[in-house]
Amino acid sequence: RQRVLSGVQPTGNLHLGNYLGAIRNWVEGQSQYDNFLFIADLHAVTLPHNPAELAKNTYTLAALYLACGLDLTHSTIFVQSHVPAHTELTWLLNCITPLNWLTDMIQFKEKAVKQGENVGVGLLDYPVLMASDILLYEPDKVPVGEDQKQHLELTRDIVNRFNHLFAKPDQPVLKLPEPLIRKEGARVMSLTDGTKKMSKSDPSELSRINLLDSPDEIAKKIKKCKTDPTRGLEFDNPERPESNNLLTLYMVLSGKTKEEVAAESQDMGWGQFKPLLTETVINALKPIQEKYQAIMDDRGYLESVLRHGKHKAEAVANQTLAKVKAAMGYSTPL
Ligand code: ATP
Ligand code: MG
Repeated sequence: RQRVLSGVQPTGNLHLGNYLGAIRNWVEGQSQYDNFLFIADLHAVTLPHNPAELAKNTYTLAALYLACGLDLTHSTIFVQSHVPAHTELTWLLNCITPLNWLTDMIQFKEKAVKQGENVGVGLLDYPVLMASDILLYEPDKVPVGEDQKQHLELTRDIVNRFNHLFAKPDQPVLKLPEPLIRKEGARVMSLTDGTKKMSKSDPSELSRINLLDSPDEIAKKIKKCKTDPTRGLEFDNPERPESNNLLTLYMVLSGKTKEEVAAESQDMGWGQFKPLLTETVINALKPIQEKYQAIMDDRGYLESVLRHGKHKAEAVANQTLAKVKAAMGYSTPL
């Protein structure tokens, strides 16, 4: 079986976009791939963070992963900071990564501008940590969204440079990762603007539906969501991004085909469609929320999952780290 690696930062709540665009793909991929999925709590401190929330959000995210259907035979779930090899490899790779490769990263430039004077070295170094996250597990595939493509390219550049410096020809030490680009990864748009993606960092809570929203919150958000004055709903009309987004959500969460949804909704007004969508979202999230609650109520179980994940992850990561250190000429610890 091929190995896939992916992670999400423990910042805030997961929303329908994270679920439909990422986690659900990992769950479906379990029939084909072995997943290494980590909670990126080291990345979470590259911007100012709240210490009172970090551990809590880490557990919430782990419980949500499980509640969404990741199963432990095919998925290893672990916390990044529990596996020290991530930080150790980052140091070693830092020392062979040219500074200008990092200052050229688009995401660094964007985030640094937003942070003003408050930019830590960690923000600049984020892509090297990400390279370490990937390379330690020698995955065959790394799922990447648009926003992470440049960082995966950098990872590949680091691999080539490392192997060039320290590996014998034809005996690479670090394995070159390939991107896994999914064709129709559902892109969920904001409820308040159908042309913007749904996002954790949107300041408006009304713009997204979180996986843990109560039925009342879901109903309220859908009631207030942006629509248009046209009667009859349709897919794929560029003038009507909200209609397309909400119909797509309805289609994906109800399990109906596009044809069925198009036929059902072509003569509907928003007043008729919104309650239907509300009910569908509530029903789709109900089993996830129930499972989440059961897992959160059993802290011992959750801790055992993360402990087990740490051991499985470490067994792989430490081997790669040992190879890297040997190639660089380090002495073996006594
Ligand atoms: P932020 O606004 O802080 O960047 P985010 O909502 O974009 O947060 P991330 O943690 O960056 O969430 O992304 C986690 C995963 O969810 C990634 O694989 C990303 O591609 C996916 N994802 C995020 N938003 C959407 C969306 N609206 N539709 C589909 N997939 C999404
Ligand atoms: Mg994002």
